[in-house]
Formats: sequence, C-alpha cells, structure tokens
Amino acid sequence: MLIILDRDGVINEYDGNYICSADEWIPIPGSIEAIARLSNAGHCIAIATNQSGIARGYYDIDELDAMHHKLEQLVEAQGGCIEFIAYCPHHPDEHCNCRKPRTGLLDQIRDHFHLDSLQGAMMVGDSRKDLEAGYTTGCRPVLVRTGNGLDTERHLDARPIPDAEVAIYDNLSKFTDALLSAEGW
Ligand SMILES: [Mg+2]
Ligand SMILES: [Zn+2]
Repeated sequence: MLIILDRDGVINEYDGNYICSADEWIPIPGSIEAIARLSNAGHCIAIATNQSGIARGYYDIDELDAMHHKLEQLVEAQGGCIEFIAYCPHHPDEHCNCRKPRTGLLDQIRDHFHLDSLQGAMMVGDSRKDLEAGYTTGCRPVLVRTGNGLDTERHLDARPIPDAEVAIYDNLSKFTDALLSAEGW
C-alpha cells in the first residue's frame, strides 16, 4: 500500500516553530522505526510536506535537502526506504496548487508512481490540511496526535471532514502497530 506521510509533527518534533536546519530536525521517538517497519513490510512510503520556510527565507533548498538526507539515512539504517519526497516551497500568499490542503503534492506523488489515482492510499498527518488534501485525492485520512494533532482532533469534532472517516492514533508508531496487525486494511 502507498502510505503518504506529512513530515513536521508526524515524523519529526514540531512545536509550531520552523525547523531550519538538519540539526534542528529531531525525529519523534519511534517514528523512524515505524517508517522502517512499514517499508520492510512491503509498503511504499512517500512524504508530502509544506515548506513555506523556503519562501520566507528561513532556510534554502540545500538545507531542506540536508534535513531529508538525515531522515533518509536514519530510515535506511533500519533497513527501510523512503521512495519519494514532495515538498511545497511556496508562501501561502502565492496561492500555488501544491500547498496542502490543495492537492498538488499528492498529485506529484500519484504521477511519480504512475498511478491513475490515490484511491486506496493513506495520508497520515497532524493537521487538518493534511487530512483534507488526502481526502480530496481519494486517500484514507489518518490523524496522529503528535505535533498539531491534539488540537486538530479537538476541532475535528466541531468541523468534521465531510463523508470522511478519520482514523486517529497517538503517533506514527501506534498507527504502524495497527496497520501491520490488522487484516483487510
Ligand atoms: Mg504537520
Ligand atoms: Zn506550493
């Protein structure tokens, strides 16, 4: 199965401040192992991440590449693999079509894997915009309670995503436990 992950607040610690360097990029405990477990079980892992810090001038593409190199090395050290990383470098004011909740990043992922659609894939995020981008493109939306997740969950009750059943887990590790033990996912 194709599993698309948001980055900040799902894979790495995120408190609302921009992550501006590889040194500041700190994995959430268990998240690297979770990605490797999913990968080693035969799932395909991609990432879709908004990185407006580039447009804001907080860091550049080289630094973003360094963060992603760190992430990929950590996963590979556990025998896993991240197949593709799609990022949006734009400022919200640019109204690009890739910044989530718009679907451009997920469309890039669909095209990268030569898929007709993302039906049957999963989108795991900590923010409403992840769930919306996933739902709009036919992914099953999954919320984790790390990063913005608790806040997102609270507001989800008041403003549910229409027709979408959002699965909710404490963190990426718990999601992975459930996915790998469940049948029929
Ligand atoms: Mg996030
Ligand atoms: Zn964009």
